[in-house]
Amino acid sequence: MKKLFLIIGAPGSGKTTDAELIAKRNPDTIVHYSTGDLLRAEVASGSELGKKIKSYIDNGNLVPLEIVINTIKSAIEKADKNIILIDGFPRSVEQMIALNEMLKTSKDIDLVAVIEVEVSEEIARDRVLGRARGADDNVEVFNNRMKVFLGPINDIEKFYSKQKKVNKINGERTVEEIVDEMEKIIKEKI
Ligand code: ADP
Repeated sequence: MKKLFLIIGAPGSGKTTDAELIAKRNPDTIVHYSTGDLLRAEVASGSELGKKIKSYIDNGNLVPLEIVINTIKSAIEKADKNIILIDGFPRSVEQMIALNEMLKTSKDIDLVAVIEVEVSEEIARDRVLGRARGADDNVEVFNNRMKVFLGPINDIEKFYSKQKKVNKINGERTVEEIVDEMEKIIKEKI
């Protein structure tokens, strides 16, 4: 049975960096996928699908449900380790419901926990504007990404709280402190 951990948080919360470091510390057991990175890889491939995805990313809007679900499904399928970390998913109630349906019908994947990395909007903004990773790292698009993040977050928290799966961690510390805590949470649950 593969064990799935979802890492969520605002743009600039550091969720991708944190999850990536945990996978690097545990190369034999943990694999990590960033939803944003997977989508950007499709854009970089130059495919027609990538062109469509780019228009959403550049404006800070959610990529359509079907594309995201297919991306997540193939990541889970290709995972060659038993512990899978996926960051940046789910980002909407419909994504959450779709995942839930997928988990119901799958016998070999278990959602263990949802880890939310919390940062203030101000810190998130400073980090994103400071790193300028792509066309979506400017203040207007950041503001939209933040709005898109905040819209469903309470519903997502409520849904997973009922399943006792939510773990919130303070993302306003050093990367090492955050990664240590996240790694501890993961290891306690496997
Ligand atoms: P950040 O969390 O800093 O915004 P990401 O790399 O996670 O950065 O996401 C960048 C963009 O990729 C998002 O603004 C969105 O367009 C797209 N994206 C990432 N994850 C999802 C998702 N789960 N559903 C839809 N679109 C997504």
